[in-house]
Amino acid sequence: MQMFLDGTGHDSLSGSSIPVYNPATGEVIDTVPAGNADDVAAAVTAAEIAQKKWEQVSPADKSRILIAAGALIRSEADALATLLTTEQGKPFREAKDEILGTAHVFEFYASMTGTLQGDAAVLPKYGYMNVVRKPLGVCGAIVPWNMPAIIFGWKAGAALACGNAVIAKPSETAPLTVLRLAELLVKAGVPGGAMNVVTGSGTVAGDAIVRSTGIRHVSFTGSVATGRSVALAAAPTLKKLTLELGGNDAFIVTADADIDAAVAGAVRNRFYNCGQVCTSAKRILVDAVCADEFVRKAKDAIEKLVVGSGLEKVNMGPLNNPGQRDAVAAAVDRIVSEDCGKIICGGKKKEGAGNFYAPTLLADVSPDAVSEEIFGPVMPVIPFTTLDEAVEIANGTPYGLGASVWTKNLKTAYTVADQIRSGVVWVNRHLILPPEIPFGGTGNSGYGRENGREFIYEYTEPKSILLGL
Ligand code: NAD
Repeated sequence: MQMFLDGTGHDSLSGSSIPVYNPATGEVIDTVPAGNADDVAAAVTAAEIAQKKWEQVSPADKSRILIAAGALIRSEADALATLLTTEQGKPFREAKDEILGTAHVFEFYASMTGTLQGDAAVLPKYGYMNVVRKPLGVCGAIVPWNMPAIIFGWKAGAALACGNAVIAKPSETAPLTVLRLAELLVKAGVPGGAMNVVTGSGTVAGDAIVRSTGIRHVSFTGSVATGRSVALAAAPTLKKLTLELGGNDAFIVTADADIDAAVAGAVRNRFYNCGQVCTSAKRILVDAVCADEFVRKAKDAIEKLVVGSGLEKVNMGPLNNPGQRDAVAAAVDRIVSEDCGKIICGGKKKEGAGNFYAPTLLADVSPDAVSEEIFGPVMPVIPFTTLDEAVEIANGTPYGLGASVWTKNLKTAYTVADQIRSGVVWVNRHLILPPEIPFGGTGNSGYGRENGREFIYEYTEPKSILLGL
């Protein structure tokens, strides 16, 4: 069952559909099928058949197909970016970056199809050992709404490069770009059935994927709470899981940092995608000696940000959905009412249509007040007095996804990078994640890695063959 190829594009075995909204206007822009367990079962049947054929495609042909997918995505980049902006809310420029980044992801995986090698050794007295890496079979890809195109690319590109079939379940609030990308993969030559999309709610379609005995691996990106329930629901099937959950990245500005570069980096990163990125700079830790200067300069930069519909010339769009905006507003209200930080600018919803929230700067924030991730356009500045204290604050949440340190001192850079508990650490930058870099977290940020060379271990399993001497 390939729901995106079903002729109407909008039917499911359940017969019902769900609306997709434009976050900038609140208008319904489309509907998608409300897929259910029967749809997932049909997709699994199609995928199991197609996977056996796809596995037998040579590395060179798989590579050619993934390169063709990248080229098709590039050729449609403007249309795909417009679609992404319309359903997700981000500015067109950011949407286009994400689409071109998604093309790059498929090109990266095209370059990896010939590298899925195992191991070999002569074991005296025992024989010749060969370890080959086998595809897992059918893989589920559960995708969130914040970066739907590229996160779909990470999962589908990796699974397909390893010879698996894919059943993707995009978010209810941003499914359209994923549907189109999947169509382009099939147009590029991925066999029908090896690439499926089942749209629908997480608790119905997503849950059916997680519980399916025919699906041997699920890569899930989403919230910590949902990640926990996915792990519980998957347990009876003993499938492999890759969990990419939330983050609460520290962005540490030391006294010797280039303050202007750090301010520019923090503002660019924190308000990118309206602050809805797992590895956003969510807690800005600034040495107390330069905290006032940092806040003053950040305020000037934030007040220049133009907010509006992503289809216009803006720096920041709306949040993706009203629930997300309410959660962000509640977090800011709580920090202020508990006297744990003060608003320097922003701190309010925009009246009228759309899920807009003003880019917000909070100063003198107490670390405990932001131990939970704020998934929106809020920059809390936390002063610190020693580097040890900064590291302690950075590590003082249950998350461990990303972090950055801003310094001109190499020793400081390495010391802090080594001491921070997270999957990625940047120095004098934040949030750059090309597919060449393994990505994933520790602690409540989840487990497993996407991209880099690590994907091989997620999407294949070793088979040892011992040949007697
Ligand atoms: P979410 O957990 O609500 O949903 C993510 C996806 O899971 C959606 O497709 C949803 O339909 C599906 N889903 C929901 N319930 C499910 C269930 N019971 N079984 C199976 N699937 C289910 O998260 P969200 O609101 O879409 O995304 C925001 C969160 O994701 C934030 O916390 C953010 O930090 C995190 N995130 C993490 C990363 C990362 O790589 N670590 C990347 C992006 C977003």
